[in-house]
Amino acid sequence: MKKNKVRGAQWYKENIKKYRYGILLFNIITISIVFLIFTGILNFIIEQRFFLNVENQIISIDRDIEENSVFSDKIHNIDLDDPRISVVYYYTDSKYFSMGQIIDPKIIGFEKYGPINENDITNIKNISDDELKVFNQIKVGNHNYMTYVNKKWFQSKVETTEDSVIVCYVKIYMNIDGEISAKKELNTVLIVCSLLLLAMGSVSGYLIMKRTMIPVQEFIDKQITFVSDASHELRTPLAIVQSKLENILTNPNQKVYDISEDLAVSLKELSRLNKLTTDLLALARSDQNRLTYNLTKENLNIIVSEIVDPFIEIAEFEDRVLTFEGEDVDVLVDKDKIRELMIILLDNAMKYTNEKDTIKVIVKNGIFDAIIEVADTGIGISNETKEKIFERFYREDKTRSRETGGNGLGLSIAKTIVTDLKGKITVDHNEPKGTKFVIVIPKFK
Ligand code: ADP
Repeated sequence: MKKNKVRGAQWYKENIKKYRYGILLFNIITISIVFLIFTGILNFIIEQRFFLNVENQIISIDRDIEENSVFSDKIHNIDLDDPRISVVYYYTDSKYFSMGQIIDPKIIGFEKYGPINENDITNIKNISDDELKVFNQIKVGNHNYMTYVNKKWFQSKVETTEDSVIVCYVKIYMNIDGEISAKKELNTVLIVCSLLLLAMGSVSGYLIMKRTMIPVQEFIDKQITFVSDASHELRTPLAIVQSKLENILTNPNQKVYDISEDLAVSLKELSRLNKLTTDLLALARSDQNRLTYNLTKENLNIIVSEIVDPFIEIAEFEDRVLTFEGEDVDVLVDKDKIRELMIILLDNAMKYTNEKDTIKVIVKNGIFDAIIEVADTGIGISNETKEKIFERFYREDKTRSRETGGNGLGLSIAKTIVTDLKGKITVDHNEPKGTKFVIVIPKFK
């Protein structure tokens, strides 16, 4: 049976660099292949364009020769305007005649007007089909030529009029040094451009990859911190309960009254544990997009005032002043989630204020959004806390938070809820002192 390897976040953290270089190498290879294909196609097209002109010129000369040379006296009546072109007529009496300037006797192997020797005749007669009616590129010394041989000529003249002094064969030469050097230059430009593009592509690919990997790396780091924080948070209440129970067991004859303090502490820790696991479960569900929302059209003013109401009394009891003002505004929300969100904020407002402080809750009807403000005149937050306040397990003062039953997950859950409702939650300093949370949710359309 195949075993599925479960890899931890640490493994991904350590291997992410390796993957990064792997992906980069893959990218470079892919870019190279694409460039190779691209330059190959471009080269082919350029070559075609370059030599099409040459071939057209040669074909037009060939047509001229065919038209003028049905009879041998008109045979050399063609105009050679282009100094790059030479035409060589081979006769059946082993001679040849060359027109044009470029043909060096060395190219064709014998003297001008000189006899064609046995070898030349054999060469001509044995000329392969591939060489006939086709364009060929040859190089002689430092020069490049495009050659063309007309098969029709060869067949009709040689076979029918073998005894007469008549052209059996015409070969057209055109100097293509210019085209070849232009092609070479273009190839060099193409190669240099490709290499430059490849280098630029690789560098930008590397930088983009580095940037895109940052959130992944941050996510992995957060995941590692989250797991270690969660286990730490779970361990503390468990250790307390264990020590209290062991304490009770060491003296089994004690009365319930004597152990009531241990029991009360254990119960408090268990209820903390209960809240912690519920919060962790909610966050895990939201991470897996499994939080379900029962969205209904609600008047935010009414639902928030219903939630705030009981807190007014609690605040009074704890010597704080809680006020509420609201404007009617319709929103599409899950009522229970808004309750959860408001309880987190109001709970915090109570926890992080002192006696005589005030807490103000306002619901506003904005132009496009509904706005909830929860502002208190409590202990306030530092600028550093402002940045991290919505992170999981973040607490400015761990002792105070723990004393008041906090676990540092409340605001993470609040942010998840607001984000899921397509809204935004922000925190700022309250004037003249304290903390102000602002929630913006789109209005119902
Ligand atoms: P906790 O359970 O610790 O309250 P939260 O996620 O709700 O966790 O809050 C995270 C931290 O943000 C708190 O520990 C506290 O430092 C800070 N905080 C939250 N609300 C307030 C507030 N109204 N005033 C000052 N600090 C606050």
